[in-house]
Amino acid sequence: MSLCKRRGFVYPSSEIYGGFSGFWSYGHYGTILKENIKSLWRQRFIFDKEAMFATDTSIIGNPQVLEASGHVSNFGNEIFKTEVGTGEDTVVSHLRAETAQGIFVDFKNLVDSHHPKLPFGVGQIGKAFRNEISPRDFIFRQREFEQMEVEYFVKEEDWEKYFEMWREVMNRFALEVGIKAHELEVSAEDRAHYSKRTIDFQFDYPFGRGELWGLAYRTDFDLKNHNLDYFDEESGTRFVPHVIEPSLGLDRTILAVLTSAYTEDELGGEKRIYLKLNKNIAPVRVAVFPLLKNKPELIAKAREVYAMLKKEIPNIEFDDNGNIGKRYRRQDEIGTPHCITIDFDTLGDPSTGSGQETLKDTVTLRDRDTGEQERVKISELSSLLK
Ligand code: ATP
Repeated sequence: MSLCKRRGFVYPSSEIYGGFSGFWSYGHYGTILKENIKSLWRQRFIFDKEAMFATDTSIIGNPQVLEASGHVSNFGNEIFKTEVGTGEDTVVSHLRAETAQGIFVDFKNLVDSHHPKLPFGVGQIGKAFRNEISPRDFIFRQREFEQMEVEYFVKEEDWEKYFEMWREVMNRFALEVGIKAHELEVSAEDRAHYSKRTIDFQFDYPFGRGELWGLAYRTDFDLKNHNLDYFDEESGTRFVPHVIEPSLGLDRTILAVLTSAYTEDELGGEKRIYLKLNKNIAPVRVAVFPLLKNKPELIAKAREVYAMLKKEIPNIEFDDNGNIGKRYRRQDEIGTPHCITIDFDTLGDPSTGSGQETLKDTVTLRDRDTGEQERVKISELSSLLK
């Protein structure tokens, strides 16, 4: 938690007023890490699949949605009430407790716009709100959080096949973001009454094992509640599709990613902390430094290398603050996989550096995990960093 605050990942919400229980803000690196995870999720859960649609539904909906969806029994007093409109026109509504409901409510619109054939699905990333009685464990249990959910519509007889398909997608996603997830088959007594099968993906948080994500077979419960059905052109019949729901909490993913990546070791006789983030989600892919900050020729060359790489690697950072050791420590703590340093040998001036002219236009490339540096040609950098 202190690293998250020190380095700009996560701050307590409205901290100057003493914070607010259950609410957190993401800082610069936290926001970028979140965006990287979201875009990987979109790739794996929507774009890589056929007949997957994206949506972004409203957080506040018609109050009837709440009644029809069975949320009152599911979430009880955990729902945030809000007033919509003014004066006599005021209507009491609520903030959604899960992103899924908007997908079901818009089911007819989706079918009318795209005429999809079963199986098909809809994916959504968005905020959800629960007035949790005891928010706790940093960003694990919050009152405002973000979900990445898919509702996948299938014919009843196909549910097992597609349950397995999403189970595999979730397990692969865990590996790709660097998390070790443990599957827990939820027993009939512990499942929601409408679910015929649920797997909880759990994670070993510093405070113990807890839920990370869920995968549920929700039967035809949701569409039925909203009196929605589907006309199958192939068979010429009308029926209610069944639903498989992979539901991923984004904040719990971030917490699992950060705690998995957090490493303490010793480098060059000194203790250090670093985040062993996978390079596909690290907020900064590579940082470029001039060896010294008061030598204009080093800075100019470093800026040139930075500008060249930025065209191909947008999440690159230029840093000339403090001394080089401090910069390495900072980049280690935010999980930057590689650092590039421009020194006097790069300039190839025989009167400075090691004096070896053959080192002209080479830089040092430092690996975060080992701390080792190798000398590489500037022209090879972009292919080495891919
Ligand atoms: P829990 O049992 O921990 O309260 P849940 O079973 O109520 O969670 P779901 O309704 O299945 O959770 O919501 C799907 C996902 O949303 C969860 O797997 C989790 O990642 C995330 N989530 C749920 N509640 C919270 C919360 N209060 N804060 C942060 N993330 C949450």
